[in-house]
Formats: sequence, structure tokens, C-alpha cells
Amino acid sequence: MGAIPLRPVMGAPSTPCIFCDIAAHRAEAHIVYEDETTMAFLDIFPFTDGHTLVIPKRHVDRLTDLQESEYQPMLRTLSTICRRVERLSSDYNIGVNQGPFAGQIVFHLHFHLIPRYGPGNPFLERGRVRLDESAAVGIRQKLASG
Ligand code: AMP
Ligand code: ZN
Repeated sequence: MGAIPLRPVMGAPSTPCIFCDIAAHRAEAHIVYEDETTMAFLDIFPFTDGHTLVIPKRHVDRLTDLQESEYQPMLRTLSTICRRVERLSSDYNIGVNQGPFAGQIVFHLHFHLIPRYGPGNPFLERGRVRLDESAAVGIRQKLASG
């Protein structure tokens, strides 16, 4: 008989997870929104100013690992953050990378919200720069309320 694959317990990461740490306030982030089950914070290597990540606090790798009861709170927070991002630009991308070949590097479900400010394509530019702390404070002020 072949080896039985080990399955991680639902909701518990098999390895340390930076987004779980942020969700639990064990790691720092520029948090723009938080409720009981979801959170949004600025991406540390933004494609554009205001690049924000929206997560469920409970660890799941992928969208399809969410329970149905989590859909509504997740989508509500996503919509809330969309409305706030529209203060920066009416144009933005919403994206989810699922799996390493799709570019997922953090295996805790997250929605990217990436404001677009003009015709240039930030995804084609090389060398993403780490979030500038003083700029982040200004962006967070614009996104953190209402
Ligand atoms: P993905 O490629 O979809 O897995 O995206 C992961 C995103 O998480 C990347 O855009 C990273 O810049 C971002 N990221 C990784 N670590 C942190 C962190 N500690 N705080 C904020 N964003 C992070
Ligand atoms: Zn996690």
C-alpha cells in the first residue's frame, strides 16, 4: 500500500504563515481594515501606490478552501476595500494567484487590489520596490476610514 498523504488540518497552516501572523497582530503591517473574520493591509512590495491585500483571518490556502459561510464576509470586505481604493483611482485590478505556477508565493488566500493610474502596465515593469514607510502612512490614512 502506498503512503497515505498527510492532509493539513483545515484552518491551520502546515508551515509558519506571515499572513496568519499579521491577522493575529504578531507581525506588523499597514492595516487599513479589520473585523472579526477579515483584514486588509498594504502590500509590502506594491505594484502601484495603494496596492492592498484582503484576507480571511482564518488560514486557507485557496479560495476553494473557504467555507460557504465565509463567502459573504469575505466579499463584503472586498467590496468595502474596493470602494476605498476608488478614492485613489476608479481603475484597479482585483486578482487572486492560486498555486505556484500562477504566481502564488504566500499560501494564505489573499485578494490583490491594485490601483491603476494611467495607461502604463505595472505588471511589466521590473523590480518592485519595497513599500516606503512614510508614503505608506499617507496611503493608509486615505484607505483606513469609512
Ligand atoms: P502572491 O504572489 O499572490 O502570493 O502575493 C503575495 C503578496 O504578498 C506579494 O505581493 C508580496 O509583496 C506580499 N507580501 C509578502 N509578505 C508581506 C508582508 N509581510 N506584508 C505585506 N505584504 C506582503
Ligand atoms: Zn495563514
